[in-house]
Amino acid sequence: MTQVTANPKPSSNIPAVKATQVHKAFGSLHVLKGVDLTVMPGTVTVILGPSGSGKSTFLRLINQLETLTGGSIEVDGELIGYKHVNVRGEDKLQTLNEREIAKQREKLGMVFQRFNLFPHKTALENVMEAPVHVAHMSHSQARELAVQELERVGLGERLDYYPMQLSGGQQQRVAIARALAMRPEIMLFDEPTSALDPELVGEVLNVMRSLADAGMTMIVVTHEIGFAKEVADQIVFMDGGVVVEQGGPEIVDHPSSPRFQDFLNHVL
Ligand code: ADP
Ligand code: MG
Repeated sequence: MTQVTANPKPSSNIPAVKATQVHKAFGSLHVLKGVDLTVMPGTVTVILGPSGSGKSTFLRLINQLETLTGGSIEVDGELIGYKHVNVRGEDKLQTLNEREIAKQREKLGMVFQRFNLFPHKTALENVMEAPVHVAHMSHSQARELAVQELERVGLGERLDYYPMQLSGGQQQRVAIARALAMRPEIMLFDEPTSALDPELVGEVLNVMRSLADAGMTMIVVTHEIGFAKEVADQIVFMDGGVVVEQGGPEIVDHPSSPRFQDFLNHVL
């Protein structure tokens, strides 16, 4: 497999993601209850937590697939969903329109548990889709880029295969290549290996490890504790819509809260 190279920004003191007192409710269901999180550029944050604790919702808020109920999120120093405008000499916040939101979302790549590839398109065509239709790249340029990204995830020999002809692990690697083809600054992974047969988990984690080594800023929701310990700069344990515990990879071996201890006893 060729080394995956990311596009690390020159190291900066501006957080890649800064969430402040984030709240999210769906009707009367209060899912996130004041989440604070800072992710520095070039680092890997792993989010652990039981099902229903709000992990996916949190990632979807960062990527503006959901809107905040309270608090704020900055990506790359820029408030998401809003812009500052000057109204009669006063600084006001105005909500962004769809085009402006789409522009902000270009900084983020997301990989889901279910790969959601187009079944009637080849691996290559799946990866070319966004560069052609979203970034309006020429067909030949997009093709070159897609080949490059598929080679990076070790699928240079499978360009013309349809999803159905690929294993789950290979499909997920196509999904990662597809996200990378838009040159995101930050990659969000939501349980990328949870839907895979156990023997296919490793190949996907290897691609992610390689991305991390190349300096990509990553937020990863996973139950793969080994991966978390090895790759994460920061581990966050969420439960019941709050961050219960947070620290370096060592917190997995020395959890201080009973809830985190209990969670680890169940997943290990
Ligand atoms: P996790 O990813 O940690 O398993 P989620 O963020 O998916 O947790 O979900 C947290 C809670 O929010 C769950 O109770 C879930 O049913 C609820 N939820 C998530 N999305 C929606 C939605 N669009 N509408 C209503 N409830 C939702
Ligand atoms: Mg989830």
